[in-house]
Amino acid sequence: MTTTPSTGRRAVLPLRPELADEEPYGAPQLDVPVLLNVNENPYPPDDDVVATIAAEVTRAARSLNRYPDRDFPALRADLADYLMLESGVCMEGFDVWAANGSNEVMLHLLQAFGGPGRTALSFAPTYSMYPEYARDTHTTWVTGRREEDFTLDPDAAVAAVAEHRPSVILLTSPNNPTGTALPTATIEAVLAAARDVDVDGTGAPAVVVVDEAYAEFRRAGTPSALALLADHPHLAVSRTMSKAFALAGARVGYLAASRELVDALRVVRLPYHLSAVTQATARAALRHRESLLAQVDTLRTERDGLVAWLRAQTHADGTPFEVAESDANFVLFGRFADRHAVWQGLLDHGVLIRETGPDGWLRVSVGTTAETAAFRDALTQVLLKEEA
Ligand SMILES: *Cc1c(COP(=O)(O)O)cnc(C)c1O
Repeated sequence: MTTTPSTGRRAVLPLRPELADEEPYGAPQLDVPVLLNVNENPYPPDDDVVATIAAEVTRAARSLNRYPDRDFPALRADLADYLMLESGVCMEGFDVWAANGSNEVMLHLLQAFGGPGRTALSFAPTYSMYPEYARDTHTTWVTGRREEDFTLDPDAAVAAVAEHRPSVILLTSPNNPTGTALPTATIEAVLAAARDVDVDGTGAPAVVVVDEAYAEFRRAGTPSALALLADHPHLAVSRTMSKAFALAGARVGYLAASRELVDALRVVRLPYHLSAVTQATARAALRHRESLLAQVDTLRTERDGLVAWLRAQTHADGTPFEVAESDANFVLFGRFADRHAVWQGLLDHGVLIRETGPDGWLRVSVGTTAETAAFRDALTQVLLKEEA
């Protein structure tokens, strides 16, 4: 803050001009019974997971006088094993990188491959944090458009790459806030176009980042971009332990890519960026990957049920809701003439969802069965009131 609390006078600070009117991120953190606003896993870690984490953190505490392992090879190997188990893709020959949430992984990517005079490209509507990483690394931010149904037309994507000649391309699959996953052919088309960018006349391709924060929730038959790593050294596939893994509080995000790409990230990371406690926590949680992934199946079933229920709802004038296809643990639905009124009405019933996405749309995270029921009841009441 630039105000001095005691006097209310505005302190003069040499703030970068482009930050002058910026607000800190963003989603309201309110104390409400039903929290369906930031796509968390609604199930807290079970007692077994908590016990393993506590034991490993205790062990790590005994050497907290020392700096942690800067390159954390044990955690990286565990994450590679997990990716192999989850996707069936062989990770041999690829490297894994991790940081404090995939937010920091993305920052590393833009620090290494963006920068002044360079451009990062994504396709709107998409994750609201990307422009902030671009801003903070002095990278120009541009967006192409998704279609009306939030899919990405491969020809339009290729044309946007040719037009903007970005050094970094961010593809989000499944996309936030829409839930839309990208077909492999679309990602391959962008990877091919990225090869032709010739960044700064060096002959280098653009780096293509596929943000798979929600990958574990994808429906059967939806591919992961991990399968494309073998042929594309300019591809990075990022994941997080914040969503499916029910570990948002620990702040662990990671990516898989070629050795060369990961080596570039090691140059820009802060020394010792991943604390010994974080490394121990993540490794402990990964030991319970099978039980954690079993929970993901429950959430996917819950998600499909929620999509079906929302599709059966109608507005006051009898037109059905629009509901985006979702491969994630949230659903985008609408459109409402006054979405803020619907959001506020739900909040008045103790249900917090997210006012995000294009005009008129709202996003709800998939909660426990009881939370989803509370959301359905609250929405039914809010809509009845709107009609009255
Ligand atoms: C939630 C989310 C992330 C994960 O962020 P963390 O920093 O790992 O918690 C990354 N990308 C998208 C699109 C997300 O919605």
